[in-house]
Amino acid sequence: MNSHRDTETQSQRFFSVSFCLCGLFLFVSSLFLGVVRAQNRTGTLLYEGARLIIGDDSAPIEIGAFIVRDGRITAVGRGGDVKPPAGAARVDLTGKTVMPTLIDAHVHIGYESYSSWGAHNYTAQNVLDHLQREAFYGVDATQSVGSSPMDASLQFQRDQQAGKFPRASRFLFMPGMAPPNGGPDEVLREGTRELHAVNEVSTAAEARTAIRAMAAKKVGSVKIWVDDRRGTYPKMTPEVYNAVIDEAHKHGMKVHAHATTLPDQKAVVRAGADVLVHLVQGAPLDEELMALLREKRPYWATVIGLGDHSEVCDNDPFVDQSLPDAVIAKIRATTTARGLSANCAPPGPNAPTRETTLLTNFPRMIANGARIVLGTDAGIHPGHTFGIADHHELARWVQLGLTPAQAIVAATSRPAELLGLKDMGTLAAGKEADFIVLDANPLDDVRNTRKIASVYLHGDRLDRDALRARWKR
Ligand SMILES: [Zn+2]
Repeated sequence: MNSHRDTETQSQRFFSVSFCLCGLFLFVSSLFLGVVRAQNRTGTLLYEGARLIIGDDSAPIEIGAFIVRDGRITAVGRGGDVKPPAGAARVDLTGKTVMPTLIDAHVHIGYESYSSWGAHNYTAQNVLDHLQREAFYGVDATQSVGSSPMDASLQFQRDQQAGKFPRASRFLFMPGMAPPNGGPDEVLREGTRELHAVNEVSTAAEARTAIRAMAAKKVGSVKIWVDDRRGTYPKMTPEVYNAVIDEAHKHGMKVHAHATTLPDQKAVVRAGADVLVHLVQGAPLDEELMALLREKRPYWATVIGLGDHSEVCDNDPFVDQSLPDAVIAKIRATTTARGLSANCAPPGPNAPTRETTLLTNFPRMIANGARIVLGTDAGIHPGHTFGIADHHELARWVQLGLTPAQAIVAATSRPAELLGLKDMGTLAAGKEADFIVLDANPLDDVRNTRKIASVYLHGDRLDRDALRARWKR
């Protein structure tokens, strides 16, 4: 009875009818959850006919099939090779492309609230909204770096794991560490100071104590800033960051290091930082850094989009659908640059130099062993917003020399590896059924990651229409 072939739309209709039969309560609660749960007699679904991009840089399977049961993928292969159990429902995805969901290893969650920004916006509800925006755009794990208050974040994670929230991107976070009055840029610092999200340490001993306290709470990573902001901030000393990295590694923790100058990037890579954040601005790279990259092979979160022109200026429905119209209008009406705030000012005088530097430095970093991972700095100000920033970053990488396949690896399996998300990042048996169904092939043009037909999280089809309606209300 369930062996009929149905298109996605027909499946949806079928599921809606089932829900009505199951009674109003289930229907309403499913709306609340923001998901359409795929239901059939055996609980097993065969998705067939789509091109499958695995996420590990292997060749795509042109006409593939995969089986999902209880939120997990149980088999993946070529169309004829995957045999569903009797009674499995079939979903015809002919003409579509399926890829794993994205993982963003560097955002700042909780502070932005569309047009306003600050610690006053930081609530579980707002954290959830940001994670829903990420999920809407196909990002199924989102790591907030150095700006999330520890205890509230641990509580949010417990609640999310316990299923207390509607389906959204999985929340990951790490505390920050900086010298007193140092660390995040002056906007973010206002927020982190109010929430005590950054551990302020002056000595190696204080740093080690802070790391041990994090390790005791099973926090897996820490962010450090090594930056004097052109002489206006105290900068973390080598004594302190060496202690941070040494102590963190003793506890199996990873260290993400913000460093934006050539000497600072060399210093943190040499000291053993696991993840570099940012690119060296306004300077050519040298052979000494290249040798360090080849030796240490750090992960690298580029966050290029933060310095780019805002896509909100482009009248692109893909961008506009998750932002209230008033926010869009405000950004478009801003035609003079104001710090990092989203605006539609013409490119500044430094833009051509920045681009030239990027075109030279980006491929060199990659060629010498920097392991690129998706990171966006989304949420650091209004308008540089969740989900959109991920697709922007992917497109930028390809512009700067990655192939679309390399970009997809850097946004899926590699961040999964970095973050220790063993059940995410590829389409493979045993992994969570987290995938994006696309109307076009991103291997032909990476901007096709934006042609999202649907997003599935843990086997559930995300109700993107309901989310879109909420944001446009
Ligand atoms: Zn950041």
